[in-house]
Amino acid sequence: MSSVQFILGLESTAHTFGCGIASSDGRILSNVKSEYVPASGGIHPREASQHHSSRAAWTIAAALNEAGLRLADISAIAFSAGPGLGPCLRTGATVARALSLMRGCPLVPVNHCIAHIEVGRLATREEDPLVVYVSGGNTIISAYAGGRYRIFGETLDIALGNCLDAFARELGLPHPGVPKLESLADEGSRFIPLPYVVKGQDVSYSGLLTMATRMIRECDTRDLCLSLLEVAYGMVAEVAERAIAHTEKPSLLLTGGVARSKRLQRALMSVCNEHSARFHVVPPDLAGDNGGMIAWTGYLALREGITVPVEESYINPNWRLDEVEVPWRG
Ligand code: AMP
Ligand code: MG
Repeated sequence: MSSVQFILGLESTAHTFGCGIASSDGRILSNVKSEYVPASGGIHPREASQHHSSRAAWTIAAALNEAGLRLADISAIAFSAGPGLGPCLRTGATVARALSLMRGCPLVPVNHCIAHIEVGRLATREEDPLVVYVSGGNTIISAYAGGRYRIFGETLDIALGNCLDAFARELGLPHPGVPKLESLADEGSRFIPLPYVVKGQDVSYSGLLTMATRMIRECDTRDLCLSLLEVAYGMVAEVAERAIAHTEKPSLLLTGGVARSKRLQRALMSVCNEHSARFHVVPPDLAGDNGGMIAWTGYLALREGITVPVEESYINPNWRLDEVEVPWRG
């Protein structure tokens, strides 16, 4: 009998319902997702959770099928327990509990932010990077120290991706907004001053969004996109640079949905060159929210005996990554 274990992971913190299967020897065997895209405006939590419950069975069946496995082959069910939108987290947790009871196997709660870090470490084989995690819901600079991932900078209000997506909606651009803003910015030539807000090691994007939105009617759209991206990414790069200088980590890992931005990659690559650090980006298929990263992180936790009884498997919409012990890094 083979000693390889298979872990099924469910992601449901926001717009994506994802199911992925990871093996204990470090492979993501399948990673299927179904994304809720609102007809207009931002994510409506209840509508997103209804999307998740209606797509869950299909997504799980597709992930098992793609991996060539049956539920009986799965050793543990991992689920994203936070941070995220309450109704969405609750739907994922309910499905995870049901699968764990049906299969009679352990349930493993996973912090979504840590999963973005761990899948990046797995994919790039980089042991101890400074991590820049940027997505629709999070903007966090973090590094491992003394049993936990510590935060070396974060947003004080909205996330980088949220700021850019909201601005793209103001321009009438369809989801996902960031790649469309990047194409427009490539044609821009004039820099328009916008609020650049870094407070200590933290960044703030809400004033930038308000000001950029206000200027839509007065400025050339391409110049405005160029300026918005330069300011928004410049803020992340400044904080990341101080963090890498302070922590002396040998490398920088860019992860999360916005990691796919070529412009942000260039900004952080130049930070790395200045500090003789290696630069890595999570592969595009693992950048956005996905179940594979939950499955792999679930395996790392399971290996350390971290499981939760169904009756105590609460979600936590405000679960910070620096609250989580990560014994597998010890
Ligand atoms: P996540 O919340 O991790 O799934 O990431 C979603 C964010 O990634 C949104 O802000 C999207 O606009 C952004 N995004 C999607 N595709 C790309 C891309 N090709 N380049 C940069 N950002 C992207
Ligand atoms: Mg995410």
